[in-house]
Amino acid sequence: MKPFFFKLLILVLLIPVVHAKQSTLSPTQIQQVVNEAYARFKNDNEGKNADYIKALAKVNPKIFGIVIVDKNGHIYQAGDAKTEVSIQSVSKVFTAALVMSQRGSKFVQEKIGVNATGLPFNSIIAIELHNGSASNPFVNAGAIQTTSWVQAKNSKERWSKIIANMSAYAGRKLSVNQDIYISELSDNKRNQAIAKLLDAYKKMGSDPLEATTVYTKQCSVNINAKDLATMGATLANHGVNPLTKTRVIDAAYPSKIMAIMITAGLYDNAGDWLYKTGLPAKSGVGGGILAIVPGKMGIGVVSPPLDKYGNSVRAQKAITYIVEKLGLNPLKR
Ligand code: GLN
Repeated sequence: MKPFFFKLLILVLLIPVVHAKQSTLSPTQIQQVVNEAYARFKNDNEGKNADYIKALAKVNPKIFGIVIVDKNGHIYQAGDAKTEVSIQSVSKVFTAALVMSQRGSKFVQEKIGVNATGLPFNSIIAIELHNGSASNPFVNAGAIQTTSWVQAKNSKERWSKIIANMSAYAGRKLSVNQDIYISELSDNKRNQAIAKLLDAYKKMGSDPLEATTVYTKQCSVNINAKDLATMGATLANHGVNPLTKTRVIDAAYPSKIMAIMITAGLYDNAGDWLYKTGLPAKSGVGGGILAIVPGKMGIGVVSPPLDKYGNSVRAQKAITYIVEKLGLNPLKR
């Protein structure tokens, strides 16, 4: 072979190698972008803590932690990575996953629903507009209903299955924030009304007030940004927790859960979120957001001040920044 053609051949053979190298992010690159996101939004104080649950108004609004856990168990973090806040609505993802494991994905789709309401997370009118359906497991109605369908012989067992399940995703033993729980129990009349309404439509799997109490407790569980990232990474990693290496859910289900996260994870603002990031995500009024880069990583951010939809302002900004900088939007691939 002539030297010129030989060189050309080598060049052509090298193209895929160079290309693959470019599309794999180095650990230094990831850590650097996490640091940048933290520095950029550290002093951003847009938004306001939730106050319809009194104890949430008292949480330090300055808490700000960003963590990425990838499918190989690498951890990247900045800020208050270990400071705990209550998980709130992010818990809905994992209880829905538990019911899916116990009863199958068809059950969740048919009994609870997998469509958007287009209305706020605590909407009552949404139930009426959809003929008694909660529409999906990530609005309060669907989440209380989901909790009621956890297979258990009594309330105590229902709770122990829920907390064990969330702990398996986080890779550590999680516990309840008692102050938040007590406060939330006295501020959950609206959720009680929602549960009673669903019961009237014969949609509940257990007593409506019992399910509301267990749901309230599940929302009061303490988590930090690292827990959220690990929980997300477990779904990204097809159901195996990358830190404990334990299979937490059948590989058939994470895609179903992520589909509901895309549709309803950020409630009536889910469309704007998807438009910006392309990622399945779930928010909670405690200030946490968990986003998933399917097949790659979980991103957990904690920052209590919220926008009008109930989604953490800084968490949205930080994740959007990271996604842009690292090219993580799966819809751009
Ligand atoms: N526990 C809260 C509630 O029921 C959860 C809401 C949320 O995080 N969006 O209102």
